[in-house]
Amino acid sequence: MAIRIDGKAVSAQVLDNVATDAALFEQQFGLKPGLAVVLVGSDPASQVYVRNKIARATESGLNSIEHRLPADTTQDTLNQLVAELNADPSVHGILVQLPLPEHLDEDQIIRAIDPAKDVDGFHPVNVGALHIGEESLEPCTPQGCMIMLEQTLGNLSGKHAVVVGRSNIVGKPMAAMLLRASCTVTIVHSRTPNAAELASQADIVVAAVGRPEMIGADWVKPGATVIDVGINVIERNGQRKLVGDVDYAAVEPLAYAITPVPGGVGPMTIACLMKNTLTAARRLQSAS
Ligand code: NDP
Repeated sequence: MAIRIDGKAVSAQVLDNVATDAALFEQQFGLKPGLAVVLVGSDPASQVYVRNKIARATESGLNSIEHRLPADTTQDTLNQLVAELNADPSVHGILVQLPLPEHLDEDQIIRAIDPAKDVDGFHPVNVGALHIGEESLEPCTPQGCMIMLEQTLGNLSGKHAVVVGRSNIVGKPMAAMLLRASCTVTIVHSRTPNAAELASQADIVVAAVGRPEMIGADWVKPGATVIDVGINVIERNGQRKLVGDVDYAAVEPLAYAITPVPGGVGPMTIACLMKNTLTAARRLQSAS
């Protein structure tokens, strides 16, 4: 039976450390690390994500400031808010919840955030810094995956990792972090003809595809460690159910270790957002 990598338990450790460090930060600087969360419109999933982020921030001793804007907000209004948050010394992290309504330009807003406050790690300055090994704020989801992998496997050096998916928010930064940890990294995507065959040679498989239970037993080498980033809502037996990109029932019996969905990568993503806010706050305070 595979080790079930418990994202809830690991994220609780990360959040405990953040709370301890946030209290020290407040003692030292006389203010709490501040996270501004911007939500435009009323997308139900985004509302849940924002609520969870605010709750975790408050529990961790951060000052969370929520900005809710109507769905018809203009690019100029959003830019103006981002500019105010960039200039506000009590705000150390800025998160604009994605996706934005269609009429807004996401790439432009991401670039408008001060890279030093870009706790999502999506600004091109942070993306570039990650790739050349310089100090950056790293995207939360792959950061959470790395913490779980290193806790489970120890040193990752020399391991062969296959990342399924090449998005800017998960697949590409995940591959960069695995490479930095001296893994041999292969990225497969929708145009890879033999993706399952390549994945089945790997010691580590990270699935970030967005296709329910696509990764079956034929994608996984016996004894491999499997990280399932996918979050998909499906209907089964008339019930709505949350499943990952990995067919857990098929893969679990042959894996060494595997993350469940829910309760795997999801909680780690939020915990790493809090970690990034603290990191940003420390850097900004020591630079001021
Ligand atoms: P994207 O849709 O941006 O990217 C999906 C990637 O999967 C693409 O690179 C695509 O390839 C690739 N892909 C699609 N079909 C196949 C296939 N048949 N074989 C191999 N590769 C394929 O998704 P994201 O990276 O944003 O998210 C992936 C999943 O992770 C989603 O379920 C999302 O909800 C979840 N997620 C979970 C988070 C968490 O906190 N747990 C955070 C972020 C995302 P191509 O580029 O060629 O189109």
